[in-house]
Amino acid sequence: MAKREQSASPFSARLKKLRAILRQRELDALLITNPADIHYLTGFRGEDSYAIVASRQLAVVSDFRFAEELERLDRVKVVMRSGSIARATAEHLDRLGLETVGLQGEYVTLAQRDALVKELGRGGAKRLRSTSDLVGELRLYKTEDEVKAIRKAIKVQQDALVATLETVAPGQTELEVCAQLEFEMKCRGSEKPAFGPIVAAQANGSLPHAVPGKTKLAKGKPLLIDWGATVGGYRSDMTRTFSLGKWSRQMREIYEITHEAFLTAIDAVRPGMTGRELDAVARDIITAAGYGEAFGHSLGHGIGLDVHEGPRVAKTSETELQPGMVITIEPGIYLPGIGGVRIENDILVTPRGGKDLCSLPTDMEWATL
Ligand code: ZN
Ligand code: ZN
Repeated sequence: MAKREQSASPFSARLKKLRAILRQRELDALLITNPADIHYLTGFRGEDSYAIVASRQLAVVSDFRFAEELERLDRVKVVMRSGSIARATAEHLDRLGLETVGLQGEYVTLAQRDALVKELGRGGAKRLRSTSDLVGELRLYKTEDEVKAIRKAIKVQQDALVATLETVAPGQTELEVCAQLEFEMKCRGSEKPAFGPIVAAQANGSLPHAVPGKTKLAKGKPLLIDWGATVGGYRSDMTRTFSLGKWSRQMREIYEITHEAFLTAIDAVRPGMTGRELDAVARDIITAAGYGEAFGHSLGHGIGLDVHEGPRVAKTSETELQPGMVITIEPGIYLPGIGGVRIENDILVTPRGGKDLCSLPTDMEWATL
């Protein structure tokens, strides 16, 4: 029984891969400060904690608030601190004799680094090396269980949107729709929204990252909703654009173009193609229709424990798409003063092509409220 449990745990496989990377880089240990990476490597989801991955030990430096949760973790040395996290970490690095320690360049503040250097004392600065995205490289490839969690998040967000749409009416504010959507997601098991939902009424949809406010939904005007759920720490991310009643000529035109770019890009997904090549599939359609300038963001991004993670699906991304990656495809066209259209689904890269994990319709008839 115990043996079976071990082989079912994803953490040992992840640690094995990470330790091989550390050996290649001649690092004695990696200090993990990014909470999503700590979750990925240990299953622990608390805050204000660090993990130390060394060749023989995985340690979590934390405090009494998380003692009970940490006790349940398998094969993790728990270091309870009474003083600062920097002191407890430095002491533990010394205790294990770890000389060369990688820091996560993207997730360590200067203040955190300075505090560590101070606690390590003489030669402390020399022991710390900046690294980039070592855990992120592992997180690019999702296991079946991770894909399952993303699928659950997608189901929750889709069902929540359908329930919300039943209540949507002209005169409501963006914030009211947003509150309803968050409520419906929580009721269905989303721990928290995957990100602050974007609910953009009328012309506000032309701001790709609009913040919901008091603008009211209006008849004959567009409504853009970009939202996601979180289940087991895993996030989903979708966008739909609606019209309350009849579509204006211009909104109809940009919807049709965006929709074609969206469907064509999903069809085009193949393992081995780069993020840049996939981005170009959608971008070429939008550019040929005369709206290239109005599609100012990347086609997509990876999702997982973070709503934005690797791989990037962008003009500058040479990362090859490979089976196991989960990416968004989200072309858009934004016309200031008129509105914006974005359509976004989550796609699993498989050996044969892209598998769309989402099932909400995208046709204009469905999108007419
Ligand atoms: Zn989104
Ligand atoms: Zn997205």
